Amino acid sequence: MARSSSNGDSDDTIRSRSKRAREDERYFNFDDLIGAEEEEEEEDPNNEPQVHEQQEGSHVVVITDPELFDCPICYEPLTIPVYQCEQNGHIACSSCRTKINNKCPSCSRFIGFNRCRAIEKALESITTSCQNLQYGCKKSLTFDKKGPHQKACVYSPCSCPLLYCNFVSSAKQVYRHFTSSHEISAATLFKFNNSFPILLNAGSNFRVLQEKNDGTLFILKNHYVEGLGNVVTISCIQPVFMSGFFYELATKAKKDSLRLQSFTRSTPSRQVIDDGPPKTGLLLIPCDFITSDGQLKMDICIWPKLSSILRN
Ligand SMILES: [Zn+2]
Ligand SMILES: [Zn+2]
Ligand SMILES: [Zn+2]
Ligand SMILES: [Zn+2]
Repeated sequence: MARSSSNGDSDDTIRSRSKRAREDERYFNFDDLIGAEEEEEEEDPNNEPQVHEQQEGSHVVVITDPELFDCPICYEPLTIPVYQCEQNGHIACSSCRTKINNKCPSCSRFIGFNRCRAIEKALESITTSCQNLQYGCKKSLTFDKKGPHQKACVYSPCSCPLLYCNFVSSAKQVYRHFTSSHEISAATLFKFNNSFPILLNAGSNFRVLQEKNDGTLFILKNHYVEGLGNVVTISCIQPVFMSGFFYELATKAKKDSLRLQSFTRSTPSRQVIDDGPPKTGLLLIPCDFITSDGQLKMDICIWPKLSSILRN
């Protein structure tokens, strides 16, 4: 997950689990954690923890550096193992350790197999909410599970495909929003497994398609390519890691017919697919297929995938 995905929170309110039920709640201090690693039995009375809030067996803490648990080299959330350089203790995630040829970018010392157990312990003992909490993800995860979860979180944000609308939420919420907030004419409604006709002005860039029953949104994208014709493709508004749908796109001219069978690509926002014509999974409709009144006349059928082997 890129650094920008940390939502820019200045403070992460997090909850640290403790093996012992502790009497006090406090602001978590990372030095305390290292102390706990070395000597688990007793808390150091000189640490004078700040009392924050009381909860059973855990305490609410504030981390003032939201990047504390990100790899300082690639900015991805750290996962175990975490390595550190000899002598100065600069840390690196395992993939960075290989990429930097075992040479610490901060001090040029060797980074071998020395693990940073204190950070690892923090990663597996401190829980935080998923960054998609605001979009409905209620998952509470330890920091070492945070990165992998967020890469596959079904609540990852998607945008309403209408450019004048700024609505952003989970895909399901975007589908609901589209149905409740936009006119019925804003999309062509269809049912999975049912072929439906569509007329698209050859000069228009897109058409929103919406499945009647579950509300899934698709974008029929159209690019005019000078001298060739129109390139059309269908994408699904959903997080990129989600598998797509089958679709068939067919069009006819007087003598010829064209048919494309493909998979929808997944895109969290329409802007992502607005940059130039697609390179794959497209149907090129030659100019002579355009009707005399400038329309692209197509038949479309979309259906859910049956096999997980065929992934987009
Ligand atoms: Zn890294
Ligand atoms: Zn170093
Ligand atoms: Zn999540
Ligand atoms: Zn909208």
